[in-house]
Amino acid sequence: MPIPRVRRGEHQEIETLISEETFLFTKYLRDEKPTWQPRIVALSYGAPMLIRVPSKKIRERFLLVYELWGCQKAVDFLTGYYGIRRMMIVLDGRKVGNGDDACYDERVAYFTKRGLNKFNIVHELYHHLVYAKDLDMAIRKEEKEADQFARKILKGRSRF
Ligand SMILES: [Zn+2]
Repeated sequence: MPIPRVRRGEHQEIETLISEETFLFTKYLRDEKPTWQPRIVALSYGAPMLIRVPSKKIRERFLLVYELWGCQKAVDFLTGYYGIRRMMIVLDGRKVGNGDDACYDERVAYFTKRGLNKFNIVHELYHHLVYAKDLDMAIRKEEKEADQFARKILKGRSRF
């Protein structure tokens, strides 16, 4: 069932979606429908994020600092912008494990050699922001938002 585009904008569209979803879910609960596939999760990409993405000017400055003085200074610039404590970047693949490229643990972001790139750094920085701001977020949501945050900060960059 397609979601109708309503003139009143995104809010109305979400309202419509929620009522449709409720209808389908009710049918499922009443055994009138064999399965129920929630579609609202698919909308969350466009949903407002808990942590605001900095302006273009700030994002460009971040990239400039990164080019001139490297990743640690660039991350320091952003944590300064957000008014939180610094996040330390540590290049140590053994700390990462699980076949991952990077991980975050209490103010320290660990990276493998291969994993040390702008995208992963901004992704881990998001975890640091969540930690520093003491936000309560489900792990899956946090991972999704961290990717989204990195994509938004590095907007227009095909190479990370
Ligand atoms: Zn992550």
